[in-house]
Amino acid sequence: MTRVLSVASECVPLVKTGGLADVAGALPGALAALGDDVKTLLPGYRAVMNKVKKPRVVSKFENFFGGNARLLAAKVTNLDLLILDAPHLYDRDGSIYLGPDGNDWPDNPERFAALSYAAAVVAEEGAGKWRPDIVHGHDWQAGFVPEYLQKLQDKTTKTPFVFTIHNVAFHGNTSADRLASLRLSDWRFNADHFEFWGQISALKAGLTGADRINTVSETYAEELMTPQFGMGMEGVLRARASDLSGIVNGIDTDVWNPATDPEIKAFKTPKGKSPNKTALRKEFGLDKAPGPLCVLISRLTHQKGIDLILDALPALLHRGGQLALLGSGDTQLEVALLERAAQEPNLAVKIGYDEALSHRMMAGGDAVLVPSRFEPCGLTQLYGLRYGTVPLVALTGGLSDTVINASPAALTQGVATGVQFNPITADALANAFIRLSDLYAAAETWEKLQKNAMKQPVGWETSAAAYSALYESVLKD
Ligand code: ADP
Repeated sequence: MTRVLSVASECVPLVKTGGLADVAGALPGALAALGDDVKTLLPGYRAVMNKVKKPRVVSKFENFFGGNARLLAAKVTNLDLLILDAPHLYDRDGSIYLGPDGNDWPDNPERFAALSYAAAVVAEEGAGKWRPDIVHGHDWQAGFVPEYLQKLQDKTTKTPFVFTIHNVAFHGNTSADRLASLRLSDWRFNADHFEFWGQISALKAGLTGADRINTVSETYAEELMTPQFGMGMEGVLRARASDLSGIVNGIDTDVWNPATDPEIKAFKTPKGKSPNKTALRKEFGLDKAPGPLCVLISRLTHQKGIDLILDALPALLHRGGQLALLGSGDTQLEVALLERAAQEPNLAVKIGYDEALSHRMMAGGDAVLVPSRFEPCGLTQLYGLRYGTVPLVALTGGLSDTVINASPAALTQGVATGVQFNPITADALANAFIRLSDLYAAAETWEKLQKNAMKQPVGWETSAAAYSALYESVLKD
């Protein structure tokens, strides 16, 4: 049994902007089933404080990164939470990362340094009687944890730190004149620790200071060490190659269960998707069509390859296919999608974030599209597998590791679960649309693909066991 302090800037069901929140919310329960004891440290954003009932005060911090703060304990669903209640940092309207002007909050470095510092205090002093054996930080927001552990703890008793990269694109960089306000040690502002091209980098602090680093798929772990995917951190990661591994994400198979999902007409076999498809077409104002009804649920950014969809779309539409898209993000992409949808009767676009609708889309869609330029793990293809919604994905990162391409060999052996395309270009995506349409037209082959998809183990069991083993191996060292 390992006591783990998980440090995350977002966590389902309280706050979510992306896949990190799903992982932080689901992994503790899966680890508990294996006997590990996880508490999750989360910022006390306004949205969090509003949802948490009767928290217990564990400790108080005076003059903590610009104001007074408290550490609170609370239970939400099956999560044991420690909440850093620091109103001067977190009690604000708007997004958890961005101010009303759409830019990062100017004090983001301090906001997440405070979170990391609180984690180090819990590691050293405990929260009540509970003290972690290990701290597990997620992304740059937890990157300074090893710096503060190094400050607060003796070398011989230092709590081990495991660092998970969900997306290496975000570095949490800031200018060197914030060393003092971030409570960092001047003497460690160098290339071996957290200095990155003259700036302070929270991500680099985590990468250089962690006892083990992992990311959310094996392929992405390899990719991260290359200039194409490493986003400038490839050298730092190569230097730590022997401590770097990949563990693919799972999904919450209770929340995403087609047999019990309250949002949909429940089903256990691919045939049961049919009434959901009719309902989905109605909801998106799409007529009947002979080709596959594709769905896409995503942040609308360059990373996610949304522009490729716009370019490759004719190949799908010419074959009688349709696309229902839900997302929000870059204004330019939102506008381009809406304009195109106004011209194309078989393209329907909803701009927004809508969890319930995303379930109905997975239930009613024939195929789910994930044409990402890079994708550390990706979750929507996993929901697709679970709901018999055949994933059409770019061959990258976790999309490589979780989908079996319908190659002639895989089809002959009856193991294919989806369609992959490579290189990640509009032309290759257009070809993939044609392959998808051909597969869809061959009803028996298509149903076999759907059944294979639905059989894939996409829950947390295997991955939680891998995390538990990772913790044990760090503690053994
Ligand atoms: P990332 O973390 O890079 O955004 P992931 O695929 O790992 O990508 O996770 C995205 C998560 O957010 C998934 O659970 C996905 O269903 C959800 N999501 C993204 N956009 C929307 C949206 N507009 N409405 C509902 N859910 C969304």
